[in-house]
Amino acid sequence: MLNCQTCGKELAEKDALIHQSEGQDRQIICHDCFKAATGTDYKTFAYRKESAKQTFFAVIFCLGASIYAFVEKGPVWGSLGLAATVAIYFLASKAK
Ligand SMILES: [Zn+2]
Repeated sequence: MLNCQTCGKELAEKDALIHQSEGQDRQIICHDCFKAATGTDYKTFAYRKESAKQTFFAVIFCLGASIYAFVEKGPVWGSLGLAATVAIYFLASKAK
């Protein structure tokens, strides 16, 4: 069993969060203290992190496909792929 280092609440290991604030050591904190410290609900934070990761992979994938299209089908298809990549990137950052 772990304890929240800010409020002292007992935490199950899966609920413990590592929080590192500027100039301080890492702290083990609970979800409530995470929200108090960062101003963001942990679920929202985790969701944003996850969607940022997905966007990253989608962009990398499109970039790879564009390069492939460029090499295999020529510059026109390559440019179309790049345009699609940029579109996906902007759509994903707008959706947040
Ligand atoms: Zn706490």
